Amino acid sequence: MTTAGIPHSYIPFSLLFFLLSSTLSSSSSSSSSSHLYPGTGTETAEKEGKTRSLHSEILRDEAVARLNDLGKVSDADDYLERTFMSPASVRAGTLIREWMEDAGLRTWFDSMGNLHGRVEGMNPSAQALLIGSHMDTVVDAGIFDGSLGIISAISGLKALKSNGKLGELKRPVISFSDEEGVRFQSTFLGSAAVAGVLPVTALNISDKSGVTLQDVLKGNSIEITEESLLELKYDPASVWGYVELHIEQGPVLEWTGFPLAVVKGIAGQTRMKVTVRGSQGHAGTVPMSMRRDPMAAAAELIVLLECLCKHPREFLSDGGNCNEHTLESLSTSLVCTVGEISTWPSASNVIPGQARNYSVTFTVDLRAIDDVGREAVVYELSNQIYKICDRRSVSCIIERKHDANAVMCDHELSSLLRSAAYTAVQRMTGEIHEEVPLLMSGAGHDAMAISHLTKVGMLFVRCRGGISHSPEEHVLDDDVWAAGLAVLAFLESHILYYLDITLDYFANLKSGVETPNYGWVLLGALLKTRIPSPADDEKKLRAHQFSQGWKRMAEELALDLEELKKLQCIAKRPRILSFIFSEIRNLEKTLKDDANRASPATAPQIPIPIATSAKALVNPALSYVTLALCAIPKLNKEIKPEKCKVIVKPTRVIITLFKACKGNWSDLHYKEDKLKPNLDKERDPMAGIMDLMKNMYEEGDEDMKRTIDKAWTDARYGNTGDSLKGFR
Ligand SMILES: [Zn+2]
Repeated sequence: MTTAGIPHSYIPFSLLFFLLSSTLSSSSSSSSSSHLYPGTGTETAEKEGKTRSLHSEILRDEAVARLNDLGKVSDADDYLERTFMSPASVRAGTLIREWMEDAGLRTWFDSMGNLHGRVEGMNPSAQALLIGSHMDTVVDAGIFDGSLGIISAISGLKALKSNGKLGELKRPVISFSDEEGVRFQSTFLGSAAVAGVLPVTALNISDKSGVTLQDVLKGNSIEITEESLLELKYDPASVWGYVELHIEQGPVLEWTGFPLAVVKGIAGQTRMKVTVRGSQGHAGTVPMSMRRDPMAAAAELIVLLECLCKHPREFLSDGGNCNEHTLESLSTSLVCTVGEISTWPSASNVIPGQARNYSVTFTVDLRAIDDVGREAVVYELSNQIYKICDRRSVSCIIERKHDANAVMCDHELSSLLRSAAYTAVQRMTGEIHEEVPLLMSGAGHDAMAISHLTKVGMLFVRCRGGISHSPEEHVLDDDVWAAGLAVLAFLESHILYYLDITLDYFANLKSGVETPNYGWVLLGALLKTRIPSPADDEKKLRAHQFSQGWKRMAEELALDLEELKKLQCIAKRPRILSFIFSEIRNLEKTLKDDANRASPATAPQIPIPIATSAKALVNPALSYVTLALCAIPKLNKEIKPEKCKVIVKPTRVIITLFKACKGNWSDLHYKEDKLKPNLDKERDPMAGIMDLMKNMYEEGDEDMKRTIDKAWTDARYGNTGDSLKGFR
């Protein structure tokens, strides 16, 4: 996409330097003036009517107000903090409960502090759809993480209620008590209990002050026993699926300019703690050659980790443990972080040593979508760590603290969510837009725990700068609206596609159609138009993305071509004219060749970005244009490709070509030497001379042309015996 297509507040990082002022001025407003959305209800009566019909008062205005209200419910005075069952968490639960009841849900708290809201459907045997997110926060948090998923679900159901459609299916909304794991250093306490995967031993874990989880619940008048914990699990047969909406917590959606994305899967995680011990000593007296310094060793290990995670292929290709698919997956999804480091005794004049069992310790957080690949990285990393520690004569202990496998989202649910996100944006803008992006999630979510119970699907909502777990976290009001509309569209599609026969029969009786079998007829029709197979859908999406990408590229090329033609009209110097002509010809050829690829039989694989990646994506259209303009059909002379280098800097690219033979190049482009006579022996010996004359005539200036004319005439009429006299 070109920058013209991106709302002001969503300028890609790479352009921030140039557009800083406009970025700041537009991002300071919480309401977007983006072209992606209609006016926010002030310009015309027509727009106001449309805004009302899109439930903006529920899905945007009320949802934003509730997010702000919930954001003020904190255990701290000057920042947001709500941990498992803290006083603020209990107050937040009460507030959310009021909102759930306002949307027509029956509510209750379970014995792990999860808040449930349920629409009592007309068919009690119908499977339930779960929608949820978490109400706890990290320390010094933003107001959208977790809360947006809960409030969007409640708003969507409230809008459905105002449409008179609520009550057609069982739709519990769950507000999970703990996801972040701040208080007990154990994530997904709430959702794991509902999924039935929380071990009973979790009741005895304690927080920093030594209070156990069971005691914390008891302090809030909740009695939990091992038996009652097991009873919290939903019966898998009674659940149809789980949907979670969450802020992206990464910069990719902001780059694409689209407010919503479907999540393809959630990366698996491994957390480790590495302890390095050496020999403690005086900073001034121990010679460098005699030191066993664990700090310097730790530094080398951290750099090794970064190197391995940036270039997994270089470390893992030789071992044969990873196939090409795994290596490719790691190349695009592996992320590693050292977020915490501590030393003892932590003094400027002491070499840290062996005391207190933790002389230098650091954490490693490693995530990838491919579980086999993640294991291979952990194995390789451990091997390399031990080797380095041996070489440095320090000891290392590696402890694996946490492991979670990757979770792939369900194709069918993702397909429904994709349609819902598309419908939401289309309803808001009234225009057809690009396909909904498909992202991987590098962050963990409750959906990981619930995947043990049922199939899961997720939607991401863009957030400013990709910033999360910070008070700077921000979602535009209109994006909150898009999220609510997507939930509403999803719920409506759920009713359309999964209409229960009994329910359908009642629904039709209610609407006055007195045909008892109408439900069966309608169901038959629906089945025919049911969701296409996931594989078909995927192919269509890929083909569409490819054709959209080509379209954008072709537009860019056409603009380049137009400008080159204008330059051609004003250029005077022959070399410039020749250069422009050659570029025009190249561009025309590229456009013609690529037009045939616009609708490929099978679309190429498009890499899927990881949501937490800090690296901005390369716009395929722009990069193609750059390459096309740089393309040289044939170089002046031969080069050695293996010795050539490309250096990419923020504002320029330096390409160094290595000549195969020494010598001067007058031009990068290959140029036929027209002054050299053609020595083909088969030809008439005079033909080479004639070609040379012809070339010189064509390339020459007026004087040259007159001289050649004269020599030619003289030679023809015998005025001279030397036809080339003028050139010697
Ligand atoms: Zn979250």
